[in-house]
Amino acid sequence: MQKIHQCIEQIAASAQPLAASGRLADYIPALREVDPSKFGIAVATLDGALYTTGDADEPFSIQSISKLFALVFALRLVGDDLWERVGRLPSSSPFNSLIELEKESGKPRNPYLNAGALVVSDLLSSRNTQMEMAVVDLVRKLSGNPAIAYDPRVAAGEFECAHRNKAAAHLMKSFGNFHNPVDAVVSAYCSQCAIAASCKDLAAAALFLANGGIDRDGRQVLEPRQVHQICALTMSSGTYEASGETAFTIGLPIKSGVGGGVLAVVPGFGTVCAWSPPLDATGTSAAGLKAVELFALSMKKTVFA
Ligand code: GLU
Repeated sequence: MQKIHQCIEQIAASAQPLAASGRLADYIPALREVDPSKFGIAVATLDGALYTTGDADEPFSIQSISKLFALVFALRLVGDDLWERVGRLPSSSPFNSLIELEKESGKPRNPYLNAGALVVSDLLSSRNTQMEMAVVDLVRKLSGNPAIAYDPRVAAGEFECAHRNKAAAHLMKSFGNFHNPVDAVVSAYCSQCAIAASCKDLAAAALFLANGGIDRDGRQVLEPRQVHQICALTMSSGTYEASGETAFTIGLPIKSGVGGGVLAVVPGFGTVCAWSPPLDATGTSAAGLKAVELFALSMKKTVFA
């Protein structure tokens, strides 16, 4: 639909200037070197169409967006048993905070906090010798792009600085909620976060969530009940401590990452992914989130009717 293309071009023009209000993530060495002016949007719709603007084809570090795909993997593997080890409550603490973890006996509030994602990595590591490659393979299959890979330089740089993540894993181990060697799991987690994919890839990969769990090839990736669980969690915790505000203003399941990607699911319609590296104070792309907000608003005004 021509209207969608026009719409995302207008949104790009309105949202991109917000990048000036953000800052690049500086605690992962490779992310400091990214060009802050990069900006892209991709929209994938259930009828198989894909609309893009700007740098939507350029791979970037997906970081926490990978947590969504690792969660899909874990739910496929162990289903509701996952909730024995990780909760599904929102948190008002930053993504790398350890405060709640100590108070709540080593059970992370949700799988999108770093500690929660590390439990998911630990669980996947118990079943896969190379859990990071299992997540890469899933993203490749769901997106239809076999060239997707993780960037070993980004992963190695993050591992060197991953003191908080290692601390979270050790803390959970002390409570009996972490089973594999800490360094091995944190290293695999850093590789998973270092997956490089474009807005186009991510919009395509998440499309099954807008379609009751059925992917482009008609495969049932998750049961509708599990899609509901992931969408609810993504809405309540996908943008960290800003999630309540994001749900209030945008009202969609949205997952962001410190690489500047913002991925949203519009149930029954499709997905939208925006990328702009500078982040707001809570670690979400300032311009990327604005782009998704403007897209949601356009949908409500039914400009595509
Ligand atoms: N790899 C990052 C970390 O563990 C992911 C954080 C994010 O994207 O929010 O800190």
